[in-house]
Amino acid sequence: MIDLPTAFDVFADRMIRVVVFDLQRYLVAAGLFTIALLVFRSWAQRKRIQNRRATRKDYTREIASSLRTSVVFALTTFLTLALREVGLVKLKLETFTLLTVAWQFALMVVAHDAYFYWMHRALHHKRLFRATHLHHHKSRTPTPWTAYSFSSWEAVTEALFIPIFMLATSTMGFAMTGLAIFLFLWHMIFRNVIGHLGVELYPAGWVDNRWTGWWNTTTHHDLHHSSGNTNFGLYFTWWDRWMGTEHPRYREEFRKVTARTRKAAREAEREAEAQAEPGTAPA
Ligand SMILES: [Zn+2]
Ligand SMILES: [Zn+2]
Repeated sequence: MIDLPTAFDVFADRMIRVVVFDLQRYLVAAGLFTIALLVFRSWAQRKRIQNRRATRKDYTREIASSLRTSVVFALTTFLTLALREVGLVKLKLETFTLLTVAWQFALMVVAHDAYFYWMHRALHHKRLFRATHLHHHKSRTPTPWTAYSFSSWEAVTEALFIPIFMLATSTMGFAMTGLAIFLFLWHMIFRNVIGHLGVELYPAGWVDNRWTGWWNTTTHHDLHHSSGNTNFGLYFTWWDRWMGTEHPRYREEFRKVTARTRKAAREAEREAEAQAEPGTAPA
């Protein structure tokens, strides 16, 4: 006979561990970038994408809903583990080469980019938007803490990628390595936080270079938050270009933000001061 109180204790204990495992990635990534933006304040000010600032209410909503997202993510982790228990999902935790980890990681990132693009476009459909994705778009000016700010329904659709992907790879006959999934999870949260930074991190010329132009920047996702129905992609610009959903002024906006050099910022500041006090302006 199953001892119910003990079974509940075991479940609660595991649940707490998995929630902490998911939550810590969010806290570490968003926390590190928040500290970096404070330390390099004048640089961040220059590379700020929007003039509007997130309010205290925005931060509170984003952090509170990210806690809820971590619980949903933990439940899907349990689902994946249950699928492994019944033999539908294969996972390799020992004996693998670094080459295997590298190609599995790359495959998972490319597959997730495709999954995210189409899931994200579906959530923008007028029948689904209000119930699922509106919550994320309450953050018109994203912050590092927007990364996990989802409604419960969106958290479910975001999290389902891993069990679906693992079911597909296991059906194809290969076992994903634990290390590839671990790296995928850390890459995902860092790229997600960078997309919501509000400050352009990538250097001038990035979008115009053939070797880097396909890699999404912060301006790319920031434009999605400020203007809606364009730039649905997560890691790469491929799907938006193929489907004609890239913001028409994406590169122009990126060039504008990254062209703000220290000298140009000082001159603009001086000009603003001179305009504010016309009597004291130098001749
Ligand atoms: Zn959206
Ligand atoms: Zn977003």
